[in-house]
Amino acid sequence: MIVHLPRMVVYDLATTTRFRGLTRRQGVLIDGAAGWGEWSPFPEYDAGEAAWWWAAALEAAEEGYPTPVRDAVEVNCTIPAVSAADAHARTLASGCRTAKVKVAERGQSLADDLARVEAVRDALGASGQVRIDANGAWTVDEALVALRQLDRVGALEYAEQPCATTEDLADLRRRLARGGHALRIAADESIRRSGDPQRVVELEAADIAVLKVQPLGGVRRCLRLAEQLGLPVVVSSALETSVGIRMGVALAAALPELPFACGLNTVPLLAGDVSANPLVAVAGRLPVREVTVDERPDWRADAPTAAWWQARLEQVQARTGDLR
Ligand SMILES: [Mg+2]
Repeated sequence: MIVHLPRMVVYDLATTTRFRGLTRRQGVLIDGAAGWGEWSPFPEYDAGEAAWWWAAALEAAEEGYPTPVRDAVEVNCTIPAVSAADAHARTLASGCRTAKVKVAERGQSLADDLARVEAVRDALGASGQVRIDANGAWTVDEALVALRQLDRVGALEYAEQPCATTEDLADLRRRLARGGHALRIAADESIRRSGDPQRVVELEAADIAVLKVQPLGGVRRCLRLAEQLGLPVVVSSALETSVGIRMGVALAAALPELPFACGLNTVPLLAGDVSANPLVAVAGRLPVREVTVDERPDWRADAPTAAWWQARLEQVQARTGDLR
């Protein structure tokens, strides 16, 4: 019997701007019988959480993907917590009709957020869609104040994870409704990090579920979760290379319904890529296609970094009993 042992290579790429505190993005690419998979849990995640990411990478490399029902996926551009002028330029350059704007960045003010959202709305014009992501940074009271003002300048499509807990999202959503403010709430961290995604539905805490393939353990697991939640889904990335983005595209391509643009156009946030033909949106859409990895020294991690990832992976494998 011939056993196909997956080959692994560690990448290390700079980000174009600080993004969720990161200036470099690293991870492991594995080459299995079905193709390439990416394993790139954020550095602070423990082995238990990183094991879900590993399951997703193995699925991609060894099983491949479910049958797609579409051949392209509409995507948003992702605007980090940059200046208004930079946000305007990035939105125009992306060619996307939908933009996701990061807000509530530590060290910045609501005035910074308002200027950035206003600039993005200006770049897109009235027909575009602007959504914001606060990564759970606001209290309910802060969110009520901020969302009223941001919605006024941005005419928001939705607000992603304005508060940290599922309970606070539910409370915010009730208070928005009571105040006559019709604004959709999307749950991201409440789905992938709370350990209880169903609670979002039980508490009626969100209108939209953001699903990410690596943190949630793979494409098939996300498809089952989407069905259980019964909410419209936005597929987003975890700031991955084209290999990880391919995994997200596989989910977006297989979902029966895809009413919103997906957050998968994040390769431009990296200063390079592992593919010579990166999965970057053209006219706001990503094609559903395979990704080739082009092994070049410019993205290969140095030996200490590769050893750190190898050790980390061994911790996860010891935990999951996967002795590959
Ligand atoms: Mg998010």
